[in-house]
Amino acid sequence: MQEELTPETISSSAWPGYLLLAAWLTAGAVAIVMAFGSQHVLPLLDGMLGPLKHHVTAEKAVYSPLAYFCLLSVVYLLERRVPVRDQAFFSASFWQDALWYPGSMLFRILFLGWYVALLHTLYQQYFQFLTIEAVSDWHPALRFIAAALLADFTRWLSHLIRHKVPLFWRFHAVHHSQRNLNLFTDARVHPVDHMISATLRFLPLMMFSNATVVILLWAIFETVYPKFYHGNIRLNLGPLRYILVTPQSHRVHHASEAPYRDKNFGFTFSIWDRLFGTHYKDDNAYPETGVQDEAYPVEDGLNPRDQAGVFMRLLIHPFLHISRTNKRGEH
Ligand SMILES: [Zn+2]
Ligand SMILES: [Zn+2]
Repeated sequence: MQEELTPETISSSAWPGYLLLAAWLTAGAVAIVMAFGSQHVLPLLDGMLGPLKHHVTAEKAVYSPLAYFCLLSVVYLLERRVPVRDQAFFSASFWQDALWYPGSMLFRILFLGWYVALLHTLYQQYFQFLTIEAVSDWHPALRFIAAALLADFTRWLSHLIRHKVPLFWRFHAVHHSQRNLNLFTDARVHPVDHMISATLRFLPLMMFSNATVVILLWAIFETVYPKFYHGNIRLNLGPLRYILVTPQSHRVHHASEAPYRDKNFGFTFSIWDRLFGTHYKDDNAYPETGVQDEAYPVEDGLNPRDQAGVFMRLLIHPFLHISRTNKRGEH
């Protein structure tokens, strides 16, 4: 029988947990008020966003907190009920990847946006004849489906290429270096990996740019869903796994050893892997994750304030690896 909670039975060590829960529920209440009171918040936020408007739409900023609140709550509960590994939710790995989250956002806002704008200008000047104009006559629903599928396919293909080209892999390996997958691991992406991915995806996306129909719910889903499947969760989503990437299938993608490696490249949909034969056959496999490189910086056992050093070393590591390989004359 469960012990009844009275002030006497709640030990003093439990209080930080209750305070955290109270803070979390307050954050949830604020997120709900923001989402449902959006008609008052939107005009205010629109004015405040100023130069960031190209990167963060006011609508996304208003509804994302609620999506994040639901995501974090669900991942937390699932990690407690059906974990793959015995690891604390707030592990050293969690704090390391949480550090990558604002880092990655800043890089995308301050640099990647400019880089993509430059590619855009080049395309408009020299390659506009490649644009497939006929798409603009399609029904909006069809354009949305085509755009969502095309965007996901380009992610799958660019991901495959970043695994197969050794130079690209050096930078993508930073994402794979995490041994304790957690919901923030999707933010652990090297800036050069971001740029390679953006470059590889640019041309097909521009050719079909007339298909773009922005649907807010889908945009938010695509942002939070990768966090869900990076969680430490023993779940393959049953029949949904034939369409969607799952925590199980993406764990296989992060596996450190053969025969799991170089499988399951999907971002949202698992259909491309199943179509092109890169799907790993066992949908119940939960292998260990990481990269086979003893020199890789790891954060295991570090407390939150010592994490910045590992973050910097992870940023530098691919360059060191490339220069060492070049000196030895390897490829
Ligand atoms: Zn990968
Ligand atoms: Zn991943």
